[in-house]
Amino acid sequence: MILSLRTTRSRECIEITDKVRDAVRKSGVRRGLCHVMALHATAAIVINENADPNVGLDLLDALEKMAPAGAGWRHDRVDSNAHAHIQAAVLGPQETVQVENGDLLLGTWQCILLVDLDGPRTRRVSVQVIPVGEPDPR
Ligand code: ZN
Repeated sequence: MILSLRTTRSRECIEITDKVRDAVRKSGVRRGLCHVMALHATAAIVINENADPNVGLDLLDALEKMAPAGAGWRHDRVDSNAHAHIQAAVLGPQETVQVENGDLLLGTWQCILLVDLDGPRTRRVSVQVIPVGEPDPR
């Protein structure tokens, strides 16, 4: 399934754990893998913490220090968002989460975040749930 999310800032972390969890439940898969992928070159998917939203803000600040906007990047001659491409490439567009008992297997503080690095835009995230292991005995 494809999730569609409207972002509101130029750079933003949006928690999508509940939306992905809904997709897992709708799939009916009890045990498997859930693949989550941002369908963009300037957005990323990460698993981290959102209990303290400053974690996401710190991540955005760290990325900006590593690959700042307007630092003479070649791609800026095309559309002025080279920093967003670099930052997205470092984080990566996808994550895979194990599914156990029909739910995402995440640590206490872990969540799934969409990181928009060149917003605001409408972002699309693909969620695929793949059954693995023994057939469900139901
Ligand atoms: Zn670009």
